[in-house]
Amino acid sequence: MEVELLEATANPEEVICSAARNDYMSAFVGDQSFEEVMATVEGETLDDRKETLIGHLLKQGHFGPFEHAQATFAVKGISRSCMAQITRHRHASFDIQSMRYVSFDDVDPEAVAEGEMVVTPPSANDPNWVGRNQKGGAVDEETVEKREEIFRRSVKRSVEDYQELLDLGMPPEDARFVLPIGTEVNMVFSVNARMLMHIADMRAAADAQWEIREMTEEILDLAGEWCPITFEYYESEMKNRKNRLAP
Ligand SMILES: Cc1cc2nc3c(=O)[nH]c(=O)nc-3n(C[C@H](O)[C@H](O)[C@H](O)COP(=O)(O)OP(=O)(O)OC[C@H]3O[C@@H](n4cnc5c(N)ncnc54)[C@H](O)[C@@H]3O)c2cc1C
Repeated sequence: MEVELLEATANPEEVICSAARNDYMSAFVGDQSFEEVMATVEGETLDDRKETLIGHLLKQGHFGPFEHAQATFAVKGISRSCMAQITRHRHASFDIQSMRYVSFDDVDPEAVAEGEMVVTPPSANDPNWVGRNQKGGAVDEETVEKREEIFRRSVKRSVEDYQELLDLGMPPEDARFVLPIGTEVNMVFSVNARMLMHIADMRAAADAQWEIREMTEEILDLAGEWCPITFEYYESEMKNRKNRLAP
């Protein structure tokens, strides 16, 4: 999996602060410099004032201003299972690589067995991995070797069958039905800072599946560079709170 920040609102925290100050000022924010907009907020420097205001908004649950800061991420090589989970979030926008138009006719099934094209879950080859809803705990080496053998055999077989169906003239949009749910897909998605916190509440949580959790953590790292005060506050003060719902 690889996650990149493609594009994002420049100066997102100035936008968030300006939007919030708009709510409580008689003057028009459009006529003023950012320094003027922030003049009455507590703090020595402009950065201090941004920190004060953003912390106050997040603490009070005034989340609307965070919808004005938007970011677009490109994600490479997640499973279609992970894609199905993230696309349940209705306030984000998605573009998903199509299996109707991108066929895997030239992929070597042996390479698929070695981990290309299909995401290998850690439980397929790590004896110490304990997943959610797993009966029992860690397993012995022999069991995990057997798991890995079955997993690799199965994904290889499904790609061989897929390619044979293509050779028999079946359109890729129908032949893909035999491919595994672990088949890799690339995705571009756009989201605002408020929605990203909500997604992180649900998907960076311990009860989320390992893959979407890993993706969300990578996105949060990038968001921390893009919108630092907001996501620093989120990580330190909000992420593990109870009663998380739609910040
Ligand atoms: C650990 C885990 C397991 C899950 N298991 C399953 C499962 O087995 N089966 C399954 O189907 N789904 C499952 N989901 C998906 C989950 O039920 C949600 O559909 C998904 O996470 C989208 O989140 P959301 O409901 O907050 O909506 P989002 O689309 O992220 O919307 C954000 C918020 O906007 C508001 N909102 C959006 N649309 C509406 C609306 N139409 N009406 C009212 N309020 C709205 C809500 O407050 C919502 O929380 C699982 C999610 C997690 C994290």
